[in-house]
Amino acid sequence: MNFTIPDELESLRQRVHAFMHDEVLPAEGDVIAEDREGRRDTLVVLRQKARAAGLWTPHLPRDLGGLDLGVMGMCVLFREMGRSLVGPSAFNCDAPDQGNMDLLLHQASEPIRERWLRPLCAGDITSAFCMTEPAPGAGADPRNLRTTARLDGDAWVIDGHKWYSTGGEAASFLIVMARTSDDPRHGATLFIVDRDAPGVEHLREVETMSEPLLAHREAELRFEGVRVGADAVLGSVGQGFQLAQARLVPARLTHCMRWLGLADRALDLCKGYLTRRISFGKPLGRHQAVQEMVARGAMAIHAGNLMTFHCAWLLSQGRHAEARTFSSMCKLHNARMLCQVLDDAIQMHGSLGFSRDMPFGDWYRFARSARIADGPDEVHMMVVARDYLERETSLLGP
Ligand SMILES: Cc1cc2nc3c(=O)[nH]c(=O)nc-3n(C[C@H](O)[C@H](O)[C@H](O)COP(=O)(O)OP(=O)(O)OC[C@H]3O[C@@H](n4cnc5c(N)ncnc54)[C@H](O)[C@@H]3O)c2cc1C
Repeated sequence: MNFTIPDELESLRQRVHAFMHDEVLPAEGDVIAEDREGRRDTLVVLRQKARAAGLWTPHLPRDLGGLDLGVMGMCVLFREMGRSLVGPSAFNCDAPDQGNMDLLLHQASEPIRERWLRPLCAGDITSAFCMTEPAPGAGADPRNLRTTARLDGDAWVIDGHKWYSTGGEAASFLIVMARTSDDPRHGATLFIVDRDAPGVEHLREVETMSEPLLAHREAELRFEGVRVGADAVLGSVGQGFQLAQARLVPARLTHCMRWLGLADRALDLCKGYLTRRISFGKPLGRHQAVQEMVARGAMAIHAGNLMTFHCAWLLSQGRHAEARTFSSMCKLHNARMLCQVLDDAIQMHGSLGFSRDMPFGDWYRFARSARIADGPDEVHMMVVARDYLERETSLLGP
């Protein structure tokens, strides 16, 4: 395997790193404070600067304002952006918009691309992905899908109830998964729905253990007799489960990239305290039990990094079927890794770590959702074990 990053990409990585260090990290406190008051002034300036620096949506094709980097390039850059919770948004590379851009890029009709994809890539609008429903509807098992879409003349009529549609209140459009037949594999379809369409009702923002930040607000929505045209279908009718899966594999991986950046920053922040703080006659970093936490974190980040690159490489080679198992492994590992690194960072800092003088508590509350969103740990374990036991999973192969 060749771990060398091509020169052009490495220089781009250094530019993103410098932008994070010089612009985003000094401003993140202001962005978060303003966001609590419903303002975006500092974020808007950061976004203008990122655009002026040529670092806007680098993963996208050039005709949509990007640098055509593909998934390997995303791996290199998204880790840097993930070092701050506001970083991905500064470059217009945050979830759920970034995954939705990819989906529309490959599956939307030309009118839909012009109407929704172009302004989304330009950062003029935001979007949401609506698959999950309150019980007994679609959750870990999407086959429980209850939202329906039925043909009425040449329009589709959507009825249903969704929640955890991240960013759904502020979004301009929604990607809604609805049942279009009882076929177990081909019974779901994805529709583009105007957020302001008659019949779309925002019921509430679901309060969670994590503080709402930027796009990360969880909407509960009701759809009653919402009419959309035939061109609102993504891909084709009945392809919903397959397209959602196709969206989720790389989207899951981009989460892992961002989490790696945050975990790396958290462990890096520990260095200072472990050198400075003297306990029982020596710096904390010289105590074996503390060293174990540092080593565990360093190894877990390194392993997560390699898993992410490997899975991205499979995708870049067009080996999508194989990538699915590895993306489950990767998401499972990195979600747990992030929670463990943050928990250990709090522990190593003692009372300081538990205080809001350090960011670990806020980051942990955000990170905990990583083990649930985009499929809970247990479902990814099921996929990894099933593929290993019933299919060919080459663990040591390229
Ligand atoms: C912060 C956040 C953001 C989200 N954003 C979005 C979004 O933008 N769009 C969207 O559509 N959804 C979103 N989700 C929803 C997310 O995808 C679901 O929460 C997830 O798929 C699990 O579904 P559920 O919550 O209904 O859990 P349930 O299906 O009720 O499962 C509950 C628990 O049961 C266990 N379990 C389930 N199945 C199995 C199994 N086969 N084996 C063993 N144990 C099992 C797991 O421990 C699981 O956590 C988000 C969730 C969170 C927390």
